[in-house]
Amino acid sequence: MLTHNLGYPRIGSQRELKRASENYWAGKSTLKNLLQVGKNLRHENWLLQKQAGIDLIPSNDFSFYDQVLDASLMVNAIPERYHEVILNKNNSELDLYFAMARGYQKDGLDVTAMEMTKWFDTNYHYIVPEFHKDQKFKLFSTKVIDEFYEAKQLGIITKPVLIGPVSYLLLGKEKETGFERIDLIKNLLPVYIELLRKLDRLDVQWVQFDEPFLALDLTEKEKKAFSFVYSEIKKEFPSLKTLLATYFEGLGENTALAVSLPVCALHIDLVRNPQELDVVLPLLREKMSLSLGVVDGRNIWINDYSKSLSSIEKTLGALKDHRVMIAPSCSLIHSPCDLELETNDTILPPEIKGWMSFAKQKLRELAELKELAMSLDRSSASYLRNQKAIGDRKTSALIHNPAVKQRVAAITDADATRKSTFTIRKKKQQQSLNLPLFPTTTIGSFPQTAEVRSWRAKLKNLALSPAEYDTLIKQETEKAIRWQEAIGLDVLVHGEFERNDMVEYFGEQLNGYVFSKNGWVQSYGSRCVKPPIIFGDVSRPKPMTVYWSSFAQSLTKRPVKGMLTGPVTILQWSFVRDDQPRSETTFQIALAVRDEVLDLEKAGIKIIQIDEPAIREGLPLRKSDWHNYLAWAIKAFRISASGVKDETQIHTHMCYSEFNDIIQSIADMDADVITIECSRSQMELLDAFGQFKYPNDIGPGVYDIHSPRVPSREEMIFLLNKARTVIPAAQIWVNPDCGLKTRHWNETKKALIEMVGAAKELREPVVV
Ligand code: GLN
Ligand code: ZN
Repeated sequence: MLTHNLGYPRIGSQRELKRASENYWAGKSTLKNLLQVGKNLRHENWLLQKQAGIDLIPSNDFSFYDQVLDASLMVNAIPERYHEVILNKNNSELDLYFAMARGYQKDGLDVTAMEMTKWFDTNYHYIVPEFHKDQKFKLFSTKVIDEFYEAKQLGIITKPVLIGPVSYLLLGKEKETGFERIDLIKNLLPVYIELLRKLDRLDVQWVQFDEPFLALDLTEKEKKAFSFVYSEIKKEFPSLKTLLATYFEGLGENTALAVSLPVCALHIDLVRNPQELDVVLPLLREKMSLSLGVVDGRNIWINDYSKSLSSIEKTLGALKDHRVMIAPSCSLIHSPCDLELETNDTILPPEIKGWMSFAKQKLRELAELKELAMSLDRSSASYLRNQKAIGDRKTSALIHNPAVKQRVAAITDADATRKSTFTIRKKKQQQSLNLPLFPTTTIGSFPQTAEVRSWRAKLKNLALSPAEYDTLIKQETEKAIRWQEAIGLDVLVHGEFERNDMVEYFGEQLNGYVFSKNGWVQSYGSRCVKPPIIFGDVSRPKPMTVYWSSFAQSLTKRPVKGMLTGPVTILQWSFVRDDQPRSETTFQIALAVRDEVLDLEKAGIKIIQIDEPAIREGLPLRKSDWHNYLAWAIKAFRISASGVKDETQIHTHMCYSEFNDIIQSIADMDADVITIECSRSQMELLDAFGQFKYPNDIGPGVYDIHSPRVPSREEMIFLLNKARTVIPAAQIWVNPDCGLKTRHWNETKKALIEMVGAAKELREPVVV
């Protein structure tokens, strides 16, 4: 029986790679320096895994930016616009690579970056490969071979990790019409064969092919591609040990296909789908090994040894032990690095820390599971320690709050339904708010300048007293209110100057949350996130935003929107409990948000926005699971929003999303106003709302806040007129695409003045 790992975090436990890359990009350090940091990280990680007792250690899981971009460079899928970057003799292969990832603006060249999108249902983003009709591939970057060789020099025969050829194609995008990217498989496969041949010459033993698409819905053609690829590889390399890795979902209807592929081992994600074992075991071909993904690669909780051992022992009962492998459920790049670095007891209480496990600890868990499975000894210290922690967690008073559980159990349909229909509400809201046609507003945040951020840092390190901080934020808020009044916005915002992040800010004020100091996870390139951790029943000890919202409202007669993050987004952007369904946790958060909404209403706030940018990204990977997810996600939003009077106007906001396939659910949220990102698609996103005859009000974003560019009034009038062709004017709001947090005041002011001007012009009666 072997322990193996599918991939280890490459950012470094102190985010060394982030600092090294950013210094290199800024011209503050040399290529040599960056390469050295990369090399050190690889060596450290390999040795650390060896010491932890992992039998098969991965290589090529390291990346300077992204593993999919690595694969594009490997097979020479380099879009033509980068060819000038290659021609410049001063540029290294890594410079080309970064140009693809980040764009290139130097020596008279101006080349855009490749697109980036989410890696399945994680918060990791990859660089989307670009494909053309009849595209040819060739072996370009030899990174895989170099790193295998590098580890071999250290005395470690690694298991190179490759994105499998089918998944690689499916991860990309066709850049012209007239072909399907999966048709390129015949051109692509020879490059993989060539690469495997080179690895073979270096005496490679195992090679891991990541094929996560096997856990998604596949077309017949895609299924055929799988059979084609793995039979060809088998033909060429009959004795190569190939491991096919699937994760993030069960194999479902692809199970028969997966077990029919002539590979040596199949990895399945038993954390996501524990029932998979009973399905796969009886179907497994003779000689095929099974890799059990028993340790959760996506979350931060310790493994329950008794559960994992029962899966392992069941497998050992059916297969000879040399056919059994154990591993994390997926690559550990989705876990923070090392729990041992969390030494601050007030931030992370030891009791809770005892239930947690980061990447390094997860490897230890694997080694212990192997020992336990081989010895069958349930009285060993490691087992008893583990079961004690599991037991303590189950019953801990820190986690369980009976009042919260009772409240969730008592939720009724009425709690998730506004008192009257939208038509009635709209009339009452209009009477109370008296807004013009095409009301203008913004999405919530105003620029978080370096100065504003420095106040928060000073408050943290005690260089500012809470009272001083309070005064500074009040001044900034007042300035924002005065300015919004001056330019004539109709519905104002307080600016969110007091918030570090739209989820962390709420997490810090809710019971049931803890935070780590170093729990960073790569989001994309050098960008890392540190998700807050929901460990227990969530409740709201006291109002969270009323202070700032009522302060802002006290300054003006115009309505100031209360600004909250919605329950699904709070859940989605946190590490969550694994001891209850996600829906349960979301309902708890929904009740906390509901109480906040009601407190805001009581404090005289007439409009409350509940942001839900993460609803779309929470969609399950398989369409058949969407219905269930959408049902509880939408219900959670409604619970948070439905306590208010008819007169109180509820807004929600979502960033760029494809709405076509979930428009019914968006309508079911029943927000009085939804603001969405629209300008980049030139209002095309609105078509879904138009065709559906979306009944409530909509604010289609009229300018892109991701760019410093100031749009002209005419452009915005053009977009709004376009919107009017699909949505009745009486339903349209005027606002930017998203919050203005990342912008500078200079461009923000100019853009918003033009935006208000555009709305005013639209209100003028048409002169014939
Ligand atoms: N209210 C938030 C803001 O303006 C919304 C951010 C978001 O949608 N991601 O910053
Ligand atoms: Zn947004």
